Amino acid sequence: MATHLTDDHRAVQALAREFAANEIAPHAADWNARTHVPVDVIRQMGDLGLLAPTIPLEYGGAGLDATALCLVVEEVARADAGTAVAIAVQGGLVASPIIRAGTDVQKAEWLPRLASGEVLGCYALTEPDTGSDTAALRTRATASGDGWDLSGAKQWISNGAFAEAFIIFARTGGEGARGISAFISGPAPGLTVGREIPKMGLHTSSTVELSFDGLHLPAGAMLGPDGDGLRLALATLDGGRITVAAQACGIAQAALDVAVAYASERHAFGGPIARFQGVQFPIADVAAHLAAARLLTLHAAGLRDAGQPHGAAGAKAKLVASSVAVRAADVAVQTLGGYGYSAEYDAERLYRDAKITEIYEGTSQIQRLVIARDLLGDAAR
Ligand SMILES: Cc1cc2nc3c(=O)[nH]c(=O)nc-3n(C[C@H](O)[C@H](O)[C@H](O)COP(=O)(O)OP(=O)(O)OC[C@H]3O[C@@H](n4cnc5c(N)ncnc54)[C@H](O)[C@@H]3O)c2cc1C
Repeated sequence: MATHLTDDHRAVQALAREFAANEIAPHAADWNARTHVPVDVIRQMGDLGLLAPTIPLEYGGAGLDATALCLVVEEVARADAGTAVAIAVQGGLVASPIIRAGTDVQKAEWLPRLASGEVLGCYALTEPDTGSDTAALRTRATASGDGWDLSGAKQWISNGAFAEAFIIFARTGGEGARGISAFISGPAPGLTVGREIPKMGLHTSSTVELSFDGLHLPAGAMLGPDGDGLRLALATLDGGRITVAAQACGIAQAALDVAVAYASERHAFGGPIARFQGVQFPIADVAAHLAAARLLTLHAAGLRDAGQPHGAAGAKAKLVASSVAVRAADVAVQTLGGYGYSAEYDAERLYRDAKITEIYEGTSQIQRLVIARDLLGDAAR
């Protein structure tokens, strides 16, 4: 379908598909039912170069690009959306800002261990009182001795329970966007991982609260220049949204697979339900919209890889792909009838997992805002 894929892209896609089919898909229902986060399987993906494929070769990564990361995330999400979160966060939200803004020392310290899976990371931007309005964040970093003392709280932090690399955004200056800086920390006194937040879906992904109380970080923990943190956070999310679009495509593909298989197997009124247009057309619509969403996703990733502006393209990809995922899961449930509503069939899990793609890394409203501002400029602000 995507003609610009290179041999390397196709190889990493095939590897991810095989790994996901053998090591993730057979266990996905059980892991989700037990809310088991498969940390060992996530780390195994590091051995195969699938965990953060964008990390350069000189730092032990696969030296691939955003397109490769999307291909991996889609394949893993097709097997299990929650497991895909860990990879999307590791590659898209943790490795990416270090590659972009890290010093040579920071890159050498963190990237090889993130590539191998020895260290898993999290990205701590959202707070209890502010999500979409990132510039209003309140976590405070106060200059102290040779570094900074952090205090505050973060909310909804994926991978947080087992993370050993924490990308933290905190206010080093005054109110507004220019007062925010980024930091990277390992586990340390004063950094507390709080409760696991119970969720509608994504039961194989850990989502926790974090709190900072007297967390002292050395000056060398600041990522990028003082006051440039929000710019780094948003540039990171420009890429992360493309990865969420890929995750949504994987969920939609899984839902389509479920609906297609069942429509051929299930008989009603003397034959397979697949012969009814009322069953065929929703499936056909999902297939068409999924193909479009996948192309939008790979287009946005291609722009990022070419160093072109990709904020609006990523927002369009996420807006469309997340809506397709929700629709596809709904079609899967409807196609399975009563079995679709049963927790013993995959359609129900896909239905619960799909919704998050319309919420995190910018809700669908925020994606529309990004697209509108790209079109309308200052008139839309
Ligand atoms: C499972 C899960 C995992 C997550 N993982 C992470 C993570 O790893 N790291 C991290 O930092 N965050 C993470 N998040 C947080 C996530 O990115 C935020 O929840 C999301 O950005 C929305 O922020 P909010 O929840 O504060 O909603 P709010 O910003 O309070 O928004 C509430 C509603 O108002 C709407 N709204 C707000 N502003 C506008 C506007 N200007 N125009 C139109 N509508 C608007 C929103 O679209 C939404 O419908 C995660 C969240 C979840 C649920």
